[in-house]
Formats: sequence, structure tokens, C-alpha cells
Amino acid sequence: MNFADFHRHSIDAPEQFWQEESKLIDWNTPFSQVLDYSRPPFAKWFVNGRTNLCHNAVDRWAASAGQRAALIAISTETNTEKTYSFTELQAEVERCAAVMLALGVGRGDRVLIYMPMIAEAAFAMLACARIGAIHSVVFGGFAANSLASRIDDAKPVLVVAADAGSRNGKAIPYKLLLDEAIELSTAKPAKVLLVDRGLAPMALVAGRDVDYATLRARHMDARVPVTWLESNEASYILYTSGTTGKPKGVQRDVGGYAVALAASMKYNFCGKPGETFFATSDIGWVVGHSYIVYGPLIAGMATIMYEGLPTCPDAGIWWSIVEKYRVARMFSAPTAIRVLRKQPPEFMRKYELSSLQALYLAGEPLDETTSQWIAAELGVPVIDNYWQTETGWPILSIAKGIEDKATRLGSPGVAMYGYKVKLLNESSGAECGANEKGVLVIDGPLPPGCMQTVYGDDARFVDTYWSTFSGMQVYSTFDWGVRDADGYYFILGRTDDVINVAGHRLGTREIEESISSHANVSEVAVVGVEDKLKGQVAVAFAILKHAQQAATPEGRLALERDIMGVVDHQLGAVARPARVYFVAQLPKTRSGKLLRRSIQAVCEGRSPGDLSAIDDPASLQQIKSALDA
Ligand code: AMP
Repeated sequence: MNFADFHRHSIDAPEQFWQEESKLIDWNTPFSQVLDYSRPPFAKWFVNGRTNLCHNAVDRWAASAGQRAALIAISTETNTEKTYSFTELQAEVERCAAVMLALGVGRGDRVLIYMPMIAEAAFAMLACARIGAIHSVVFGGFAANSLASRIDDAKPVLVVAADAGSRNGKAIPYKLLLDEAIELSTAKPAKVLLVDRGLAPMALVAGRDVDYATLRARHMDARVPVTWLESNEASYILYTSGTTGKPKGVQRDVGGYAVALAASMKYNFCGKPGETFFATSDIGWVVGHSYIVYGPLIAGMATIMYEGLPTCPDAGIWWSIVEKYRVARMFSAPTAIRVLRKQPPEFMRKYELSSLQALYLAGEPLDETTSQWIAAELGVPVIDNYWQTETGWPILSIAKGIEDKATRLGSPGVAMYGYKVKLLNESSGAECGANEKGVLVIDGPLPPGCMQTVYGDDARFVDTYWSTFSGMQVYSTFDWGVRDADGYYFILGRTDDVINVAGHRLGTREIEESISSHANVSEVAVVGVEDKLKGQVAVAFAILKHAQQAATPEGRLALERDIMGVVDHQLGAVARPARVYFVAQLPKTRSGKLLRRSIQAVCEGRSPGDLSAIDDPASLQQIKSALDA
């Protein structure tokens, strides 16, 4: 079938289309209705059907191909490597599930997972899925304040963590950061389950903290039956940054997610049972949920969990993994490839990579140089895919499993099945024609697998995502885009205050709030500025309470370091601005709104745009002078 027909069918007859796709997974009870869209924009898929993500990812393969590799956990930080077969994975998940049940976790309870990239993190996620608990994985790079705000929102009954993560040989004390976060939080979890890797001291808090190894030993032979969940029960919450400082809990369902992932594994990632999938992301991000843990396993593939840098012990490490485990499909981000491009090519050429059939890249714009370089080096198709935490699987790409359609440089591709993608003019809301820039939106209902709501806040879901254009209920991606005459889209950056640093999505407001907590900062603006390696970096402009502290170059440097330290401590190094500049005034409109887009333009050497509303044009000159100083 050609892709255009496939896509059209998914849009014209969504119920028929997804009814067919639903056969890709096991159902304990068949659904009675494919789609309930009686309360837009809330879509319910596979109503009254009962299924389970863990059953589909683990048990059904353990039953039919138990000895096959399921999870391959590799750490170049601790020099450990272990393969779990589907049977072994099921046993570990059941042990972990038994431990959670013993700790009082029940169906619908939240379990927050703050873990490095170790096998136990996947066990914990799958154990939650098995017993119907809702997991919320928080990226290990986030520090105490970020973690505390997520704890307060999710109100977990249990937190699963480890003594430490490790980056470039340096231990990151997860347990200490967690203790600090719990101290800051108002919704303190009753229990904390800890995996002791022996990397950092780990003092257990009496009555609250429990050691995983001790409890696991008590449940070695545990059999924990799968809890069959109604398709629309929540499977997980994943926090993501938005325009306000408060992170949004993207909530996903069970059945729709399982079906969407199974379909994407078939049509986009073309994975076959028994093959190996290697996504280099982290379980703290959506790629980690969809394409490290659930997607490949649902497809019966072995999945690789890798803890370590792409360049350590040397830049050949990923390729040695591809060779050793005969990786068929690999998924990464453009920044990582740009990092590798700076290394001598011998590292890649040393390995036998004939098993590799395609490389998928996502998370940030893929530049042509990077795309062409890696395609030439590997000799396999490089497939860009554009999506978001909110959607859980690609919105735009090329579905090679349907048709071997050509990719187009600079474009992530065409609208995927199930997505009614449009571009709307920012001010009029009119639909854009070919080659006209607009806001990329999706007509409801969103296909299976996309977010159900903002956790605990239906109104925020509607207000944030569905209310951008008055009188029109469409889902906004908050990305600018343009479509060519052949239906290929090009992404042109965010319409909101979200920035993308090395594929990591960060809210500038969160960073501003953190910087503002510094004793000497009275006001601050953070913008994303183009960066050759990371795509974008955060740059801050701060007004000081006591400007004399920054009167000398040494004073400025010391203060800049101090402010970066505050961000590191509160949010994590991932959110640290690349530079902090000091100014006496920030560009604002007469009504006091920060002109972030103008600041960003000045930083990137572009024209600041329409300045008719600016309060004082001298403020932009100050930004220029600060950059030049
Ligand atoms: P996240 O929710 O962290 O996955 O970030 C989603 C955002 O990253 C999107 O809204 C885009 O701004 C950006 N993004 C993701 N994938 C791509 C891509 N392939 N090309 C361009 N931008 C992308």
C-alpha cells in the first residue's frame, strides 16, 4: 500500500483503522467501542477493553520465546553488562511487583522512579504497569527542587531510587538529592525503595527507607498475576516543561499507548521479534518510555539500556555495542551524532555494523550536515522523526514499514497515520498553504497513545493545548512549521518559552525562577540561543540588587559561577545556563511583558523584529553591550 492511502484511511475511518491495529496486542477482555469522543478534546480509545502493558511487553513473549534476550543492561560507568531473557525479565518484574505490593502500593497509586539507567529502573516501571500503579519517572539529571515539585504534584506513595548515578566516573548522589527533595516537598512519600549500587554512602531513614536487595530476597519466587486494566486507566505520568514554571504531568493510558507503540514498532521502526533495538536516550524522557522500555519489548525485541557517555571509554562504544549485540535498529538524537562527528572516524569504522538497518533521530531539529555525515558513515537510512512527550510516538516521519518513501533533507517527513496535522496562521487562525509558515496543530481526536490529560488538571489540558486559537478546538504543538507542496513538513522552532538543549526540553521560566532565588538577583530573562553542538543553549540576563558586585570582571565571573551553582543545585546541571550576563534593564513592552524573542534575536545577531511596543529601546542596546563586553 502507498503511505498516502494508508494515512487517508486512518483519518477517514479512524475506528476501522485502529480496530485493525488493536490486534497487534493481547486483550484480556475485548473493547466494546474503539473510540469515545463524546467529550472533546478528551479521547477514550478501546473503551471497556482490558489489557496490560507488562503482559504485552513481557509475559506474552516469556510464554512463547522465554529464552530470547529481552533486556540488555550495559554500563560503561560500572563496567557491567547483563542480558535478561524474557523469562528472567518476567521473574525480576514479578519480584519487584511483589516488593511494591508488600510496601502497600495499589492500583492507581503513584510510584515515582528517580533512577539511573540500570535494569532495576525498567523492572520498577514494568512492575508498576503489572499491578496497575501509575509510574512517574523523573530524569536523574534533575536536582532537588525539580524533583520536589514533581513529588508534590504526583503525590507518590512510594519512591524508587538508587544510592547514585554515575557520569564520566563521577557518582551523582541520587539518594542525597532525593532526601533533600522530600524535605522540600509537602507530599512526603510513605516509603522509599533503594537500590544500593555501592557508589555512594546511603543512610536509610528509619521507617521510610527500605533496601531493595533485602526485600527482593524475600520475594524470589513471587508470582504476581497481571492486573487487567481498563484501556483508559492511567499507565504513567511524565512531567514536561511548559510556559509556566510549574511542570505539566503528561498522563497516558494503557490500551491506546500499547496499540500505538505496537503500530509504530511495525510501521516506523520496522522491528521484528528476536532483533535488537538500541535507543540511546534515558528512561527519564519520553523516548526512554516509548522506545527503550515499552515499544521494543511489546514488539518482542531485545532492548538495550546503556548507562554511560557516547565517548567513553572511547567514541567507538556505541558501535561496539551494535556489533556485539547485532543491533538492527538504533534511535538517538542529533546532538549525540554531532558529538561523535567531532571524533576521529576510525572509532566507527573499527566495528562490523552489518546488522544495523536504520538510524532514527529525534528530539530536536536534524541539520543536513549531521544527517548526511552519519548516513554516509553508516551506509544506512537516517530517519528523522518529530514528536513530543505529549504524543508518545512520532507525529511526522517516514514510515518505511508502509512505503519506502524518500526522506527529504531538513524535513522530519510527512504526517503519520492517525494524525490530522495542519498549519495555522498565528494571528488569523487560517490554514496555511504550501510553503507558508504557521503553528503546527493537530485536529482532535488525538490518535491512541497521545496524552489523555494533564495529571489532576483537566482544565489545564484544555487551556494549555486546545485554546491557542479562539473559536477553534485544535491541539497546539507550540512548534512553528512549514509544509512543502508534497506534504513534507519542516520544523522552525517553538512558539513558546520552551527551549531545546541537546534534545532536552527545558522551560525558560523554570530557569528564571531558579536564578531569581539568588540573593543578589532582582530580575532575570532566560532565552534559548542557537548553538552549533547542542542546537540551543540557555543564556540569562540578570538585573542585580547590588550591581557593585559585578563591577569588575572577577566579580562578574564569581557571580556568574555562583548563579550557575544555584541552578545546578535546584534544577540540575542540565538546566544550567551557558552564560549569565548582567544588565541594568531588560527589554519589555510598555505593559511590562518581557520581550524574549527580541533578546534571543539580538543574541543570535538577527534583527530584533517589531519594536513598536518596546518601553525603552536602550534596553536592547544593553543586551548587545553585555554580549560584546
Ligand atoms: P520533548 O517533549 O522533550 O520530546 O520535546 C518535544 C519538542 O522537541 C518538539 O515540540 C519540538 O520542538 C522538538 N523536536 C522533537 N523532535 C524534533 C525533530 N525531529 N525535529 C525538530 N524538532 C523536534
